[in-house]
Amino acid sequence: MSGVGTIMIVDDDPSNTEVLSSILEPDYEVLFAENGERALEEIHNKNPDLVILDVMKPGMDGYQICEALKKDPLTKKIPVIFITALSDADDEARGLEIGAIDYITKPIRPSIVQARVRNHLELKQARDLLERLSITDALTGLANRRHFDDLLDTECRRLQRHKDPLSLIMIDIDYFKNYNDAYGHPAGDACLKKVSEVINRVINRPQDLATRYGGEEFACVLPETKHAGAMMIANRIKDGVEALGAPNKGSSIANHVTVSLGVATLICDASISPEKIVKAADDNLYKAKEQGRNRVTGTDMS
Ligand code: GH3
Ligand code: MG
Ligand code: MG
Repeated sequence: MSGVGTIMIVDDDPSNTEVLSSILEPDYEVLFAENGERALEEIHNKNPDLVILDVMKPGMDGYQICEALKKDPLTKKIPVIFITALSDADDEARGLEIGAIDYITKPIRPSIVQARVRNHLELKQARDLLERLSITDALTGLANRRHFDDLLDTECRRLQRHKDPLSLIMIDIDYFKNYNDAYGHPAGDACLKKVSEVINRVINRPQDLATRYGGEEFACVLPETKHAGAMMIANRIKDGVEALGAPNKGSSIANHVTVSLGVATLICDASISPEKIVKAADDNLYKAKEQGRNRVTGTDMS
């Protein structure tokens, strides 16, 4: 069976790496590192799906490499398999204790290496998929509310240290209940997707996050973004949704689908909670609705 995935082999003995690569290279992309420092750097950069570590090496030993990988949030989820000549149960236990997922003992038997690698890669892929699904909104493919809550919390804490501004945009489709009543729920779902595509297109810095907050509401978290920038983005979303020209005969203010947006910008400090930020943006969204919908209202509290 042909596999998919990238495997990093860390071993300073060329005869071992040769054997392992002849077993794995037909099915996987295989990377090599001879020492611990190089390995950590490469694993950081290339984000492999699996790491195979030789336990004994001069300098940093396999245990230390594994510990360093498990400490780092960026690499801690990469499965680690130890390869060792030591068949001592204590060594196995130590490796498993510090986070290795499995052990392979020398002499290397190709069928065992193939089977274990395949199993662990399949499990890793299943875990990755599950994790992605758990933070994604199924209808729109945007991040979901759970991811929004986590990210806003993390960003708040991070920005407290830097005193950089954070902007939040809350977006709500106007007269969407009437839209559903007029065109049916499946058409409503299709409309939500189109609006999400506009939002996704406008939000394009890597640290920005576009989310489906719930129902017909969306939220964009914009770290390190000043108020003027956030207002510009909010207006682009408003204009982009109008430009869809999607008919909404249930709307009292236009003959097409429109959105109202509330923006809040603030400097995160210990007194600012994620709830306060959401409330500030939500208050502005409410004002935008009151003032006639299809508009952006914002407050700069930074
Ligand atoms: P406003 O202009 O004040 O925002 O009015 P509205 O009708 O958009 O707001 P309201 O909160 O009264 O209704 C929101 C509607 O959004 C209710 C529901 O029919 C619709 N909705 C929420 N989630 C979904 C969904 O997942 N799919 C579809 N099709 N409709 C949804
Ligand atoms: Mg709503
Ligand atoms: Mg609405």
